[in-house]
Amino acid sequence: MSSAACIFCKIIKGEIPSMKIFESEKTFAFLDIGPLSRGHSLVIPKFHGVKLHDVPDDQLSEVLMVAKKIAVAQGLVDYNILQNNGRAAHQMVDHVHFHVIPKPNAEEGLGIEWPQQ
Ligand code: C5P
Repeated sequence: MSSAACIFCKIIKGEIPSMKIFESEKTFAFLDIGPLSRGHSLVIPKFHGVKLHDVPDDQLSEVLMVAKKIAVAQGLVDYNILQNNGRAAHQMVDHVHFHVIPKPNAEEGLGIEWPQQ
């Protein structure tokens, strides 16, 4: 399920360009356009849901695993995995997304070397 008006659904469909990191049947990941630190990325389910509880479990199953792979591939030691629900919780884009935010002291070694598992 996707939403015609949703900016992240448009990114998934390639209607808006993005710096794609990963794509599978259910999951998409790309660099954040307004990074809080170098290498800041977003991991999203392709299923359009505004908040976490709007997305079926089976559509979320890969998201944390992909976030972990990105952190490992970037060689991160210190980082945040962050997911906001609702305006009061600072959600600005109404499509569930998980931030992978490298912390400054871990910003060496951001070359991608994808782990085998
Ligand atoms: O969690 P929150 O909704 O506040 O985060 C939205 C994120 O989406 C922001 O970090 C923003 O930079 C990012 N964004 C993006 N590409 C867009 C629109 C927003 O990476 N076209």
